[in-house]
Amino acid sequence: METFVMRTRGLTKRYGSQAALDQVDLSVRRGSIYGFIGQNGAGKTTLMRIVGGLTFPTSGTVELFGETDAGQVNEARARIGITIERPALFPAMTAAENLEVHRLQKGIADRSTVRDALDIVGLQDTGRKPAGQFSLGMKQRLDLAIALLGRPELLILDEPANGLDPVSVVELRELLRRLNRETGLTIVISSHILSELHLLATHYGIIHQGRLLEESTAEQLNARCRRYLHIKVDDPARAVELIGRELRTADFELLPDGSIRLYEAAERPGKWSAMLAAAGLEIEQFMPMGESLESYYVRRIGGETHAPIARG
Ligand code: ATP
Repeated sequence: METFVMRTRGLTKRYGSQAALDQVDLSVRRGSIYGFIGQNGAGKTTLMRIVGGLTFPTSGTVELFGETDAGQVNEARARIGITIERPALFPAMTAAENLEVHRLQKGIADRSTVRDALDIVGLQDTGRKPAGQFSLGMKQRLDLAIALLGRPELLILDEPANGLDPVSVVELRELLRRLNRETGLTIVISSHILSELHLLATHYGIIHQGRLLEESTAEQLNARCRRYLHIKVDDPARAVELIGRELRTADFELLPDGSIRLYEAAERPGKWSAMLAAAGLEIEQFMPMGESLESYYVRRIGGETHAPIARG
């Protein structure tokens, strides 16, 4: 069985002079949950639309389940469940009736797939209730059920947590994790909020202004979120001088509030607090910290989570 269920190579999409996607090489491993992160307008939807066959790339290729030939890629799309724009729901129809319409539209012969999809997303007991009266969380689950019709091997979800309340976000995460674990379903899920995918994604791709900045496993990303010592003393300028002299490092930041982030010595806090105290500095705060995923992401796409006034 192929290692990658989906790959893009050199995928580029231009709208006039603007590149919504610029030479994107993205690889999604079978069995993974791929968190596709990017700000609004970064190009996530465009990539998903191309993979789903809803629009054409300007150049580059999409490989699905090992198939690269255009005709076979098109056939392979039957093995994908995708929600990009919210699928049309008929408000007067029940969940089951809505699914039945989509089953027929998709040309899926097996009727039992409707019941299966309802069971998986937990909407089996909604009976005669029309979809128009569903909560947003229930509508979201119905969207998911539509994507799961025909038991796809790859599920692609564009910002599924948008507009959901926090409880529904947790429920969605649990549901996706269970699907992945129990059925081996590969999932690509996009978001502009990295922390939404944290705890769920096994792999990440960060896209910014149409370019894929990095792909990494969850472990790699966690390791990249750097640990540092947060230091606040009565005389930051003197502390900075000492750090430069004693530690011989330039790997620190002095923040506008006078606190220092010392990256180099994060693993040896005791030694350096003693050094600062011995120099007569009054230590107000001194603690090991870890950069959050969110702050790493903001830094990675070139933003600042804070404004350092001096960088070592
Ligand atoms: P969002 O979460 O806001 O949808 P996104 O990461 O999915 O963001 P895309 O929708 O893929 O981003 O858009 C990428 C860029 O391409 C944006 O600058 C957008 O304005 C532009 N774009 C997308 N579709 C079109 C179109 N049909 N015509 C012109 N420009 C487009």
